[in-house]
Amino acid sequence: EQYRKEIETHNSEINAYVATDFEGALARADEVQKKVDNGAAGKLAGVVMGIKDVISERGKKLTCASKILENFESVYDATVIERLREEDAIFIGRLNMDEFAMGSTNEYSNFGPVKNPQNTDKVPGGSSGGSAAAVASGMAMTTLGSDTGGSIRQPASYCGVVGLKPTYGRVSRYGLVAFASSFDCIGPLANSVEDTARILDVIAGFDERDNTSSHREKDDYVGAVQNPDKNIKIGVPEEFFGEGLDEEIKKGIEEVLDKLEADGAELVPIHLPHTKYGISTYYILATAEASSNLARYDGIRYGHRADKDEMRDELKKEEQALKEAFEQAKGEEKIELQEKLSKLDSPLIRLYKKSRTEGFGTEVKRRIMLGTYVLSAGYYDAYYGKAQKVRRLIQNDYKEAFKKVDVIVSPTAPTTAFDLGSKMDDPVQMYLNDVYTITANLAGICGISVPAGTHSNGLPYGIQFMGDSFQETKVLNAARLVE
Ligand code: GLN
Repeated sequence: EQYRKEIETHNSEINAYVATDFEGALARADEVQKKVDNGAAGKLAGVVMGIKDVISERGKKLTCASKILENFESVYDATVIERLREEDAIFIGRLNMDEFAMGSTNEYSNFGPVKNPQNTDKVPGGSSGGSAAAVASGMAMTTLGSDTGGSIRQPASYCGVVGLKPTYGRVSRYGLVAFASSFDCIGPLANSVEDTARILDVIAGFDERDNTSSHREKDDYVGAVQNPDKNIKIGVPEEFFGEGLDEEIKKGIEEVLDKLEADGAELVPIHLPHTKYGISTYYILATAEASSNLARYDGIRYGHRADKDEMRDELKKEEQALKEAFEQAKGEEKIELQEKLSKLDSPLIRLYKKSRTEGFGTEVKRRIMLGTYVLSAGYYDAYYGKAQKVRRLIQNDYKEAFKKVDVIVSPTAPTTAFDLGSKMDDPVQMYLNDVYTITANLAGICGISVPAGTHSNGLPYGIQFMGDSFQETKVLNAARLVE
């Protein structure tokens, strides 16, 4: 009831939820209450959660904030949903996001932008903007987001909450709509590090339905935050504190580090020399994977289908116009027109094209084009192949560094949340925002963003701790020391 009230009060302005299910949640709460009364409560009894609209919940709409999936309903539960439900979590609604999780501001959504609860003129970050804003405004106790290139950690930083990206393979992707399959991770956002640990504890672990999920046993995440070790080794990479970083954020983070050092941590200067290639490598590989994953939305099997009669009319008119022009034309021109006529789309191809043209938004189309380009025969080696090699170099940088330190620290983002609309026309500016979060996805390692301070502009900013693969306990430990 409390969360329902908060949603009814704030959501019309914040726009974090794209759908709610109060009836279902309240009915579920009654069931959970009975279990509590019988002493049979699960680990998450009473935990009210919102779910990013990219994760399947059976019987609920699954839109990915895209017009192309406007009316699509999930036919099965994601593994994470099954596991959370088993422990008595209660799902109250579906959260706004950038379309197909592509973006850093939550402005590329078919449902309109999410506003930052800390200042409603600002973006909440993205792509899990709804997931961060819901927690920050008390509209959920905790939420699930997805992180392909920073989409949990960066909005957590902008909204002043905690966001955890687990190691690739730690949490099953079964039931997560694919964006870039070798990067995608599901993870929690919450008001405290301990809460993220409690959610991770439930969702982590092998799942035979995801062939990239790890067989490795999960660790004691909750224990790690309840009894944090202060004598940790923190790697400080020079590359993450240079040009482009807001001076105040830099100072704020240095202060946090001084305090950790005074309490027993050891600060170790390190180098991650290939960091500068992170953004270009990511935007080649992620768009390549996206262009392939998004091929399934053809308007035939899934989602939005263009009006068939309209499509046939269009096609007929085009054919007619070409034929008429052909009759009039002479010589070379005639040959050209004949060629065009012979290449005119078949009705089925035209239906694909029209459905996709209508169904996908600008940023998604940009990614499909970029991805298709880097995968095309003539450019594959120059871009995709090269980027794969650089990805390995970035992974190796981290492997080397983690021989010397427990965690690596960085700002989560170079600035605090910026004005809504201010970067919409400049995709490159938008991409540059991911500079500190993206390399963790390229390396497949884990990372967490925890609030580190408030800027003089009144907005929060986060500090990020990255850990080697499957070292979630270490990043949780470090983040707990900052709270
Ligand atoms: N900003 C990144 C992108 O647009 C992050 C995406 C993500 O993590 N889902 O690709």
